[in-house]
Amino acid sequence: MTPDPRLGLMRGDIAGSRWPPLFSSRAASLAALLHQLDASQWLPADAIAARQRGQLGMVADHFARHSPRFARRLAEAGLDAAALARPDGLAALPLLTRRMVQSTSEPIHIDQVLPGHQPVRTVNTSGSTGEPVIVRRTAVNQLHWLAMTMRYHLWAEPDLTGRLAAIRANMVDCGEDKDWGVPANLFFDTGPGLRIDIRTDIRAQLEMLQRFRPSSVMIYPSNLAALIDEADARGVDLGFVARWRTLGETLSPDLIERVEGREQGRVFDCYSSEEMGYLALQCPSGSGLYHVMAETVIVEIVDEAGRACAPGERGRVLVTDLHNHVTPMIRYDIRDHAEAGGACPCGRGLPTMRRILGRERNMIVKPDGSRHWPLTGYKQFREIAPIRQYQFRQHEIDRIEVRLVTERPLTGDEEAALVAHLHWKLQHPFRIALTYFEGTLPVGRNGKFEEFLSLL
Ligand SMILES: [Zn+2]
Repeated sequence: MTPDPRLGLMRGDIAGSRWPPLFSSRAASLAALLHQLDASQWLPADAIAARQRGQLGMVADHFARHSPRFARRLAEAGLDAAALARPDGLAALPLLTRRMVQSTSEPIHIDQVLPGHQPVRTVNTSGSTGEPVIVRRTAVNQLHWLAMTMRYHLWAEPDLTGRLAAIRANMVDCGEDKDWGVPANLFFDTGPGLRIDIRTDIRAQLEMLQRFRPSSVMIYPSNLAALIDEADARGVDLGFVARWRTLGETLSPDLIERVEGREQGRVFDCYSSEEMGYLALQCPSGSGLYHVMAETVIVEIVDEAGRACAPGERGRVLVTDLHNHVTPMIRYDIRDHAEAGGACPCGRGLPTMRRILGRERNMIVKPDGSRHWPLTGYKQFREIAPIRQYQFRQHEIDRIEVRLVTERPLTGDEEAALVAHLHWKLQHPFRIALTYFEGTLPVGRNGKFEEFLSLL
């Protein structure tokens, strides 16, 4: 496939050399990596899988030597590092649970750091699950993270000179910038950027966007839903936004329909995690499939029996970090569920996922012990009552609290219709308690919002 022509226009950081550009050490590694990723995305799927196995063998060999705990894990599965790197080798290794990563009696990370992998930093994932996980990551992980951030821009943006707004958690120095920040500004004269902290009131967010008029907005799905509600309520036209780049939370089909049904901007989703970095990005071709960032991670989707899911099947997501040489994140059960995808019509060999379903705790539990993805449906709620935001919280096996923000107090008939609708949709006569909130519903400790939360 043809290389991305924009990569030929990168700006170097060595004075006096415009073409071909020259880069000082770290920038040079990053620039070279971008060219390699531009080519590797088009490799045939089997070539990608073979290279992944080669890299996996290298990481596994390193941990087998330096981590007694990992060596034991391999031995207990009847494997060694070389066997792990053979086809089907990885599938023979029992998965790494969150609890195993948390263990403090024998820490999972190792203290040896390869030359060139310094500095090591600690990622402490949010405690939203009540089970915080501490993972050490290296300078090499950071380099890959920067490269994938750039791939994310290259895939999502037809033109790097567009106006980009980002509404995120943990933002520092909010406000307008002359460019999109690192890494894009290392190589390109990008358009201007705007940073908004996620805790900013929705009305203020809307006003800032109206003033800045971004062509793209990076945003959490729940924030996007609230923004659209506010824009509708105030008759504000957000037609200047061509792309809503969602991240951080599970994107529901409801929201895609709401945004794209307005024919005001398309949704482009990103699947990432704090402990593993970028996992998958939606294909720039518009196929809707998510391509796995296979140069940095192996993503497996397995069913209840541990078998690999075929395209269209749903299962749990296991992730292997191919470049973390201090914490063996190998077959890590990230506690998400997803639907496996097939080959993408775009021609990229990167494996695909069709849909990210969300976290295990976002599944409803039935009194018979079965679990499934709850069907809720914003659109139908709106037909029953003027509901602006909702959240389901399952407190007990037969009791669900439905938190609501409404445009006005609901009538008794509307409440009854809503409960009847929920009984029908959830296929069980749960005890349902409607509770009301002003403004917006509270988010989790990590600043993220979940539509359905099982607290069992
Ligand atoms: Zn594709």
